[in-house]
Amino acid sequence: NPGGNVKVVVRVRGFLPREIERGAQCLIDMSPVTQSTKLLVPPSSDPANARAQTRKVVEEKTFTFDRSFWSHDTEDEHYATQEDVYNSLGEEFLDHNFEGYHTCIFAYGQTGSGKSYTMMGTPEQEGLIPRTCEDLFQRIESNESPHISYSVRVSYFEVYNEHVRDLFQPRTDPPQYLKIRESPTEGPYVKDLTEIQVKNYTEILKYMRMGDSSRTTASTKMNDTSSRSHAVFTIMLKQIHHDYKTDETTERLARIRLVDLAGSERAKATEATGQRLREGGNINKSLTTLGRVIAALADPKHARMHNSKRANRDIVPYRDSILTWLLKDSLGGNSKTAMIACIAPADYDETLSTLRYADQAKNIRTKAIVNQDHVS
Ligand code: ADP
Ligand code: MG
Repeated sequence: NPGGNVKVVVRVRGFLPREIERGAQCLIDMSPVTQSTKLLVPPSSDPANARAQTRKVVEEKTFTFDRSFWSHDTEDEHYATQEDVYNSLGEEFLDHNFEGYHTCIFAYGQTGSGKSYTMMGTPEQEGLIPRTCEDLFQRIESNESPHISYSVRVSYFEVYNEHVRDLFQPRTDPPQYLKIRESPTEGPYVKDLTEIQVKNYTEILKYMRMGDSSRTTASTKMNDTSSRSHAVFTIMLKQIHHDYKTDETTERLARIRLVDLAGSERAKATEATGQRLREGGNINKSLTTLGRVIAALADPKHARMHNSKRANRDIVPYRDSILTWLLKDSLGGNSKTAMIACIAPADYDETLSTLRYADQAKNIRTKAIVNQDHVS
């Protein structure tokens, strides 16, 4: 379905030690039948939710998504493991890639809600990115057709403070930032970004870890960079079909984008006063712009003007931030796209804001096409 909607799923994590310590109560309820997620009213005794309590409108809220992943307690029969998340979302998206579609999966949510756990995971509990890499090479290696060959290239960058940094290059002082260019055919891209050709799963995993450590090393040194940076892991899958009878070659190119966004609480800082803005130093412009882009794309007015190129350009503020400019295609263009809204179990305000954001994203339609070229 070329005019598909953005697929939106939600995942709630278990309690962290600090939440158990303060006796937090789970405010999330999910229905495996309707795939709905209910946000319950926090009990007044919970001091962490005191702010929510003092507001007038604290209500139970229910949202429906494509999937609601219950990852709160391992004991529950509906507990969604890393494998479950991959099987229900990652695998389908990889199917699309082999059909020749670009895809994008991005994780949204406040810091500590499980974005990195879901996308990257741990060596014991691997997330969507390593599982996608593994499945990708399993499929490639099980190919028996002499007519088909594959090429896989990978890149990894982060957007921090409206600068793009190559995660495959060593950190330098001063840091080396990359520029964005726009090509008429390929759209916006990062100039001089390192793209590495990889031959197997071991190799891609090595680079994935290397890039990831370049990101996390920074977070311990520089005031929690990872909660403020957006990490974009990209796999380019090229399938070359050669028909020996007709001597015709066609290529299918699929771009697989896996995005771990900055903590969504950062976007809210812009709502603060000017004073706060200055103190806070850098507000996450990319994240606030992402919110505006999603709102513009989700607007029914936009849907009506879906085919008008001029209208799109005028209304959707892609170019107002680095991240939205680079993800333009993934958000409102040639891509099949999914959003994973990650939520903490006992955080009424932030969770409500994430669920509303996710609810809005459901209305976005993209226009994916099979990227096939006749080569000779
Ligand atoms: P974020 O990237 O959104 O800031 P993390 O992915 O780092 O959040 O998750 C915060 C903490 O919660 C980490 O210790 C992580 O291991 C744990 N965690 C998150 N989601 C899950 C989950 N589904 N199951 C088990 N632990 C989780
Ligand atoms: Mg993280």
